[in-house]
Amino acid sequence: MAIHYLCKACRGHLKVKTSIVLSAQKKKSTIRGLVFLDPELGNYTKTTHPSFTIEPGEEYIYTCPICHSLLNSAKYEHLVRIIMVDDDNKEYDIYFSEIAGEKCTYKLSDGELEITGKDSKLYNNYFDVPEEDRKYL
Ligand SMILES: [Zn+2]
Repeated sequence: MAIHYLCKACRGHLKVKTSIVLSAQKKKSTIRGLVFLDPELGNYTKTTHPSFTIEPGEEYIYTCPICHSLLNSAKYEHLVRIIMVDDDNKEYDIYFSEIAGEKCTYKLSDGELEITGKDSKLYNNYFDVPEEDRKYL
């Protein structure tokens, strides 16, 4: 299966080989670096250079490494949005937490919501999707 991840602003490809590559900066700080995320939803492995450590509980500003647009959602506080495109060219909004250590992912398309992660209750109420159209993975 070829799943692609795109920047919501420039639609540049963020997944290279086996990782989603994003630029991250700790809020209210100048500490920043590249973050490699696992493209598998529900896998919260984050890989960084040893000089840049993601600190649990801290908020991060994520930007596109191609166009430098802000990926943190303006609509949903504490969530970051990127686009997923699947084999059938269907597009989804993928949301995850900007707060390091929070394990939650929301995959949204056409009023359907797939929810992953043990911390998903934190932001469940952002999404106006009826309970019967929600899938917990
Ligand atoms: Zn971009």
